[in-house]
Amino acid sequence: MRISEVADGVYAVDTEIGGEKGIVFSYIVDRGDVAVVETGAEKTSGVFPEVFEELGIKPEKVKFIAVTHVHLDHGGAAGSLVRICEKAKVIVHPRGAEHLINPERLWRASKRVLNEIAEIYGKPLPIEDSRIVVSEDNSEFTLGNSKIKVVHTPGHAPHHQSFVLDKILFPGDSAGVYKDGHVIPTTPPVFNFEKAVESIRKMRRLNVERIAYTHFGIGEKEMLDRIEEKLFEWKDLALSCESVEGMHEKLLEVDEDYRFFWEWLKKSKFAESYFHLALRGFMEAVGR
Ligand SMILES: [Zn+2]
Repeated sequence: MRISEVADGVYAVDTEIGGEKGIVFSYIVDRGDVAVVETGAEKTSGVFPEVFEELGIKPEKVKFIAVTHVHLDHGGAAGSLVRICEKAKVIVHPRGAEHLINPERLWRASKRVLNEIAEIYGKPLPIEDSRIVVSEDNSEFTLGNSKIKVVHTPGHAPHHQSFVLDKILFPGDSAGVYKDGHVIPTTPPVFNFEKAVESIRKMRRLNVERIAYTHFGIGEKEMLDRIEEKLFEWKDLALSCESVEGMHEKLLEVDEDYRFFWEWLKKSKFAESYFHLALRGFMEAVGR
């Protein structure tokens, strides 16, 4: 577990999922009141007591647990966190709430799609509905002297939302995955191309300066322009490919960002979900 301060009172926590560094980040925002933005997976929920201690944060100061969507690597630890942080409420998209309250169906679907990776993420604990706050698009939550603004951003998943706090955007998976100046879409089934583009355009209009990606760290706002362009580039390419394997080979040839992520992650146990599964969702979404 590694903590770095990425802005004043905003800490990136590398949850080191499956023992791999830099794959899933959670963010802690300390404004007197505290928010955990993105929880990581249930299997890494054990990092939080340590993180709070290291940052000198009392768990009862945690007011909000903000999850962008209920996929296991984003909202999976929310159930453990509400047990650790007795006063915290979970902010979730209206279409995600039922999966936090009763994670059985989500868990079965995740095992079917992710196979053994689901076990690495772990099964989320259920959350009482009294601990859940269902968001509305553009709703705001007061955190000390700051505000967390919610922006609904479907596309990657129908139950996806993003957050803005002090000019930092937390886009979950709705703006692709980012590292070292490179960005590519993350689009497993059931990806919706049109909604994803609409959501990115919505985020481009926000007054933000930096982006705190769950995968894999801090980037600049310009990356939103880049990911929108990239979605259209990939669409053209997908329409000329016969198979997921064909699209993968083509991307390795023509897309240096894709090549960068492939070289970094091809040996990772998570490679399947960032490449094969994402391309399958992408091709299905554009009608291939
Ligand atoms: Zn996701």
